[in-house]
Amino acid sequence: MKHSHLKLLSMVALLIFIPRSTHGKKTTQKQQPVKVLIEEHDRTKNRRCSSWKLTSNTGFLIFNPTTKTSCKSSEKTSLTITHNQSRICVNGISYPGSELRIIPRDGYAGINGTQFHGSFSITQTNDHTYLINHVDLEEYVCSVLKTESWPGWPVEVNKAFAISSRSYVLAMIKQAQKSTLPYHVKNTNEHQTYKGMHTTSAIHTAVALTKGMVLTHNGQIALTMFDSCCGGVIPAHIEDFDFGKAPYLARTYACTHCSRCKIYAWQKEIHLADISKFIAQFIEYPGVVQQIKIAKKDKARLITQVHVKKGNKKHTLSGKQLYSALPEIKSFCYSIKRKKDTLVFNGKGYGHHIGMCQWGAREMVRDGWHYKRILDFYYPGTVIRKIS
Ligand SMILES: [Zn+2]
Repeated sequence: MKHSHLKLLSMVALLIFIPRSTHGKKTTQKQQPVKVLIEEHDRTKNRRCSSWKLTSNTGFLIFNPTTKTSCKSSEKTSLTITHNQSRICVNGISYPGSELRIIPRDGYAGINGTQFHGSFSITQTNDHTYLINHVDLEEYVCSVLKTESWPGWPVEVNKAFAISSRSYVLAMIKQAQKSTLPYHVKNTNEHQTYKGMHTTSAIHTAVALTKGMVLTHNGQIALTMFDSCCGGVIPAHIEDFDFGKAPYLARTYACTHCSRCKIYAWQKEIHLADISKFIAQFIEYPGVVQQIKIAKKDKARLITQVHVKKGNKKHTLSGKQLYSALPEIKSFCYSIKRKKDTLVFNGKGYGHHIGMCQWGAREMVRDGWHYKRILDFYYPGTVIRKIS
């Protein structure tokens, strides 16, 4: 495993001696770690005290920023962290304050069986407790690509993904500076799926070959969204998206490259009784839905509103509500047909249809495209820069 005593010392120094107030300044200091939310406990929903278990082969350092006491060394290879409204406890020892930093001596630690690079913080607010992983940018990108890409795909396409993933998280870090939340990104596909360390060499190579490379627009790091398959949708025609801040996402021409892929078109047949249960969060259950009809589409052919017939009543749902309620619906571009006691959805694409189309990018590489040309196609007007 790549770590050293020096690395551990520099990580501790970074955590302890760089105050938060310097984060927003343009300095030449080392890139701050990405703060990824691993787990969150919401006391308004669950009043019971919960616990997290961290493991490391060589123990931990524990630092309390509230009391600014020096790091407490723990030889224990397993830490059980419990918390309630007023305190954070580690292996039964209570620490004052609302934050605790935990630094694995090895530079990595396990949480519930998954290994993560970097260090951790436990942060309490009035209603929430957050378990946050502080991880080096390049290690974060490497982890993300394991779940957001396909290890068997060519290095060239993973280079495009690495630049996109790196730019996206840096743009999110900038956005997070305006927020009161103690983390930059979630570990779910709400941002980028992040599941810790791996040893997939093709992905490590792609990240190393593009180290520090980001996409910028007018000197600012671009919010480089991506999805699995665009389904041929032209993003500039999407109405429910503010392209003002990110004009490079308003591509005015279609990607046709993904149309050769299996994922491009999908069909799902869902029983009306199941649909009724799924949409109960929006339309009261019981009672079985009889029909769903498309009420509005935007210029990009994305469904923005549907009418749901149930009993004698007609309800209206937004396209986003239906998408969030029905897990089998893969995109916002589809038709609906009634077939006996089911509805048949025929759709195009997989995801939100904005930014880079991953399956399209893979086909481009098969056609001999270079990663720079791919990024230029999906994020027009951006340029590649290297951060220090
Ligand atoms: Zn596409």
